[in-house]
Parts: sequence; structure tokens; C-alpha cells
Amino acid sequence: MPELPEVETTVRGLRSKLEGLCFLDVWSDREKVVRQAAGLKSFKKAIKGKKILKVWRRAKFIVIDIEGPKSIFIHQKISGHLMYGKWKLKDGVWKSTIDSLLKTDPKNQHIRVIFSLSNGYQVALSDLRRFGKVMLVDDKTVENLKELGALGPEPLDVNFSEFNKLFTKKKGRIKQVIMDPHFIVGIGNIYADEILWEVGLHPLSRVENLKEVDIKKIYAAMKKILEKSIKMKGSSMDDYRTPSGEKGSFQNVHKAYHRTGEKCLKKDGGVIERMVIGGRSAHFCPVHQVLK
Ligand SMILES: [Zn+2]
Repeated sequence: MPELPEVETTVRGLRSKLEGLCFLDVWSDREKVVRQAAGLKSFKKAIKGKKILKVWRRAKFIVIDIEGPKSIFIHQKISGHLMYGKWKLKDGVWKSTIDSLLKTDPKNQHIRVIFSLSNGYQVALSDLRRFGKVMLVDDKTVENLKELGALGPEPLDVNFSEFNKLFTKKKGRIKQVIMDPHFIVGIGNIYADEILWEVGLHPLSRVENLKEVDIKKIYAAMKKILEKSIKMKGSSMDDYRTPSGEKGSFQNVHKAYHRTGEKCLKKDGGVIERMVIGGRSAHFCPVHQVLK
């Protein structure tokens, strides 16, 4: 599932291409692909000819703000990813006309939605497992959107004093706490494991026992790791691809996530172990991430 660096990579890639263009049309393999709109026809009507003003992100939602009172919200969920290129519909299947990974990578071939743009290019949503969500949202009611309600702050924007405050009265295991979008958004299994490896905290450490110095370390590692991953265009462990259809490369420098049985890169003699916490896996080094 894409986490913050992957969604941010998508947003940055699309922003540089889309802003200033207009939507000409939209196609989908399902009439009901768009929530909050009475079918594809009315969605088409709402966005056709509309200029794209801004592409941004809140948590893992990609927001395309168009002229007029509406915005398009896209959540890529587990396997969805947005791409920018050119495609042609042939025998019911969209095929990229650009010789690149858009055409050859099997992960890019599950196209469910295609937006046509005024410069002759398209934006496509490839989504093998079909959990991806497209919503047409009224700008006036964005604040009331239940999906955005009660979300925690953005890790790249939050300052230390705000971050520190989140821990006041908070209880639970650190891994689960930092993965909770109501606590802080955008951190899933990959980046939680990487952050905890970096700061040397066991995933089961209780947050009520953390000292301010620990929280400072978590804060610094969170920023450093997320920013580095964005620079490397995210982690492609499975379906995630960038808007040009390519893999990110942060998975090549993971220190903990999916490194079970491999030597700890802190060279402390530890071997990465995997455990299951609340149904999710956690990867950690038993030598420098000791449960206190
Ligand atoms: Zn270690």
C-alpha cells in the first residue's frame, strides 16, 4: 500500500504536468467508479472543459482542484497508482502508445480510469485489486469530509512542539501509534519499521514510557526517512509505480522492512527478525532495538 513518500511522489509528478491544462473527458470500466457523483455521466459533465488549478495531497488523498466548486479526490488504496502518458483503447483494453514501462510493466496494465487532457496526454489509474477510490467533492464541504475528519497532522509539516504534544496522554505500542492516521498521517508498515530501526526502539515499546529525547529522535528520523524516500521516488515493494510507470528505489536501501534473516546494517551482530503485532508484521533488530 502506498504510504506518504509514494503518494507525494505521485503528486509532485502529476503537479508538474497537469496544472494549467483542462480535462476533456473521462472513461472508466465501471459506471460506479466515482463516489459522490450520480454515475460516470454526471462526473464527466462536472469535470469536462474544466481547468486544473492545483494538484495537492492531504494524508494519502490526491486532490485535483478544478475550476468551479468541485475537486477530484483520489485514494490509490492498496494497488492503485496514477500515471501520465498516452493510451489507446483496443479491444476493450487500454494500451500505452509510448514505448516505456507504461507499456511493458504488467503492474501498469490494470487501467480502470482514464482522464483525457487538453494537451493530448492522459492520466490513467491502474488498479489491479480495484480498491482505489475516486470522489467528486464539493470544495465548500471538503472540511466535513468524513475521510479527512480527525486525521492527524502531516509529518513533513508538523513542528517538534506539535509533534511532542501528540504524545501527551497517548498510550500504546509505538509501532501501532505511529501507524495510526488519527495520530499522524502517511506512515504505514514500511516507514514505521524504518523509523524505529533508525532510532533503536523496539516496535512494542510503550509510548507512555518515552522521554522527550526519544520523541526528538523519532521526529528527526521520521523527517529524514520520509524526505529521503521522496527523493528516491518512494518504495516499490509491490504494485506502486511513479507517474511515468517506473519503480521507486527506496526499497533498495531499507534497513529493516522485509529484511528478515539479514544482518543488521548497524553492524552490531544483530539479525533482523519479524514479529506480528495486531495482525501486521514488524521487522526489527533484536540487538539495538531491545524492549525495555
Ligand atoms: Zn542492529
